[in-house]
Amino acid sequence: MGSPPDYRHRWRDGGPVELPCGKVVCVGRNYAAHAAELNNPVPSEPLLFIKPSTALASLTPGFVVPTDRGACHFETEIALLIGKPLRRADEAEALAAIAGVTLAIDLTLRDMQERLKRAGHPWEKAKAFDGACPVGPFLRPETLPPLNDLHFSLHCDGVLRQQGRSADMITPIPALLAGISRHFTLLPGDLVLTGTPAGVGPLNAESRLRLRLEPALEIEAQVSH
Ligand code: ZN
Repeated sequence: MGSPPDYRHRWRDGGPVELPCGKVVCVGRNYAAHAAELNNPVPSEPLLFIKPSTALASLTPGFVVPTDRGACHFETEIALLIGKPLRRADEAEALAAIAGVTLAIDLTLRDMQERLKRAGHPWEKAKAFDGACPVGPFLRPETLPPLNDLHFSLHCDGVLRQQGRSADMITPIPALLAGISRHFTLLPGDLVLTGTPAGVGPLNAESRLRLRLEPALEIEAQVSH
């Protein structure tokens, strides 16, 4: 594998987003059914972690997964592009700062994550590696249904593997952004990944993915190594 691809945020029409590429703040266990499938308790407040900007990669036409560190799982998530600084924001300020919406994959080296969790160590090697966050092209939020009524899905090699509804999030999007901004300032160009529904599983190095965010976005992505 060579150097990481030169990722830039892009609109769905292909134009560049005039924002830098910042950090990615992620939430774990934001859907009860996914927490249960990994035998994890549902946290009493959002469980947050960060991927650096070097984790960003384009979902299309394809992305690379590591093959030398055990199983690499897909986690399909709604991703929010931040357009204004958010620090100790309220929910209205948080909503007004969302510049774009897309789907992203929180790639997770699951075997390594299990080892790190058992040892009480941080997750970065399992979640924050180069290319660990393939991201789709962005839609403007006003072109989508309300953020509390988004539906999305992942097909892997023609099989439906994940189906999510933002209405099922344990912490909904406005409260999630406001809560994140109490711990980490969000800057223009940062992303927030909002958690994965049930159905996560390993990617094969030749898998073909189809991600849909209803009704407007369909992304085809080829996995390689
Ligand atoms: Zn995730």
